[in-house]
Amino acid sequence: MFPYLKADENQISDIINNTTSCQVEQVLSSERPDFQGFLSLLSPVAADFLEAMRQKAQVNRLRHFGRTVSFYAPLYISNKCVNSCKYCDFNINHKFDRKDLSLDDIMLEAQALKSQGIDSLLLVAGEDPKGVTIEYLEATAKILKKLFSYISIEVAPLEESDYKRLFAAGIDGVTLYQETYNQPLYADLHPAGPKRDYMYRLSTHLRAGKAGMRNLGMGFLLGLYDWRLEAASLAAHSIYVRKHCWRSKIQYSFPRITPIEDQFEVPLPVNEKELEQLMLAFRITFPESDMTVSTRETAEFRNRIIQTCAANMSAGSKVTPGGYAIEADKDVGQFSLNDNRSVSEVKRDIESLDYEPVSKYWDKLFVCD
Ligand code: SF4
Repeated sequence: MFPYLKADENQISDIINNTTSCQVEQVLSSERPDFQGFLSLLSPVAADFLEAMRQKAQVNRLRHFGRTVSFYAPLYISNKCVNSCKYCDFNINHKFDRKDLSLDDIMLEAQALKSQGIDSLLLVAGEDPKGVTIEYLEATAKILKKLFSYISIEVAPLEESDYKRLFAAGIDGVTLYQETYNQPLYADLHPAGPKRDYMYRLSTHLRAGKAGMRNLGMGFLLGLYDWRLEAASLAAHSIYVRKHCWRSKIQYSFPRITPIEDQFEVPLPVNEKELEQLMLAFRITFPESDMTVSTRETAEFRNRIIQTCAANMSAGSKVTPGGYAIEADKDVGQFSLNDNRSVSEVKRDIESLDYEPVSKYWDKLFVCD
């Protein structure tokens, strides 16, 4: 569990598993659930209230985000990694040709994305202390900020001083998943490499928020452990981060684990109905927080969930370095995709649902903060 929670795993489980229908109805009729109410919405009993949860979530979603859906694309700049995460195809033990993109290559990729109408970018890299240095990230941010309104990063955890440098260079957001909040499982899944340090990872959002990052992306990998307990930890973690970094916005993601190479058997798979219940519980409890839905999910699911929960989604994603402009489709990606629509197809579908696709996620008005 999130280590600063007063309740232990057994107590949280008891609350979730002993929730009654009457309690779920009470939570759904309240203005905003407290933490205990949130746990009720995760319960097995609440799975029978999905339609009522959808309606309540949709009210929150429309109140805080209108009918807009902002979209972005990930740009993989390196698939080199010194870590050994058992569930990831980029882990150090997996032998394949790896690369990190030169600044020229990054510019080619960026121009390909720009020509598709992408204006918000998520830079993604494995943990490679020799290749993906702070200087490399800083130089990348400086060339890309001329092309994109909003750039965030999903890279290895950094020091606060590094986040300050990147913020000054044009990075506005940091996404980092704890993967699992269960510490013994975390140790087992990360047998070697710097990522073994659970507590350093856990405090990443605090360092990024203190450095000024405006958007803090949080989540866990669905399928590694009991999703209800992980959700309780994520909610507690995000409340803790918000308390300390109140000027930053929280963005939740719920990536279901989808390995490519079948080398990892997902211990506790989460089905689509459970994923929807989880997202609805977060939208109802944290109405003002942002939420994104991954291309790991099908187009049908994504089209449905943007109407009740998520106001942000990726589009036209490639998960290999060089996947947009440089021939790289034969390379190993980080995970498999279930939505292969192009950016224009995603936009068309959003419009057909009477929602408005927005490519500009963030707009800088001032030359200084
Ligand atoms: S999950 Fe991240 S840190 Fe772990 S092996 Fe994959 S790329 Fe590396």
